[in-house]
Amino acid sequence: MAIEENIQRKAQELGIGKWGILKVEAMFDYGERLRERMDRIPQGEALYGRFMKFADPRTTFPWVKSIIVVASFYGHYHIPQALLPHYGKYYLVDMRLNPASPESQTLQDFEAYLHELGLRTVTEAQYGLTALRWAASKAGLGRIRQNNFFYIEEGSWIALNAWLIDRELECIKTHHVPACPPQCSCCIRSCPTRSLSAPYTMNMATCIRRLTTSSEAIPYTDEVNQMLGTWISGGFLQGNSSTFQRNPYGGGS
Ligand code: SF4
Repeated sequence: MAIEENIQRKAQELGIGKWGILKVEAMFDYGERLRERMDRIPQGEALYGRFMKFADPRTTFPWVKSIIVVASFYGHYHIPQALLPHYGKYYLVDMRLNPASPESQTLQDFEAYLHELGLRTVTEAQYGLTALRWAASKAGLGRIRQNNFFYIEEGSWIALNAWLIDRELECIKTHHVPACPPQCSCCIRSCPTRSLSAPYTMNMATCIRRLTTSSEAIPYTDEVNQMLGTWISGGFLQGNSSTFQRNPYGGGS
């Protein structure tokens, strides 16, 4: 049985619905898109230059041949209404901070199986070793929409994980996520700090996630403070997916 079929069987057994494998070369054009973004925003090179290595993970790990990507849906967690205007939902159910969470356990079992298959792997759950949304898009799991979120059929409440592997494998999936409607700009108009200033563009320097959690020096002006509104944190918190109840009716957006 081909390795891809074995992985398919294991993913099914573990309840992993969205996964795929792309060859490492499929990531190369990420560098071009990143360059475009750097050219569009002030201090783009300083903010985003560090991610250029994500276009070819072989610069860090020369033995890498392919990338396995998994999307985990977290839209089934209930979040208390009182928290929603203040904290980014993702960071309240962040599996990266809780190795005991069901999603994290599933991924650990999945990784153990990859090793059983004799694959050499490397992963980095917190910040990734390659561009996760780009890799997921190339693997056919869903679509990056104009707000830069990655969408699967159930919505954008998903976490992405990737393993770099030493075998040349490929398993590209298909999805049914529609493209953004022509002329739609609701997300751009809704962004409180104007970090999302144009389709597929984002200025990390003014993103709430960074403004509320980064330890780096940031341009934190009164104007930005006003724009933050009720947001307290868009980043890592100690709350996690074991803290909240799963919603038996599903949900998410
Ligand atoms: S608000 Fe409109 S443009 Fe933005 S991601 Fe959604 S559909 Fe696309």
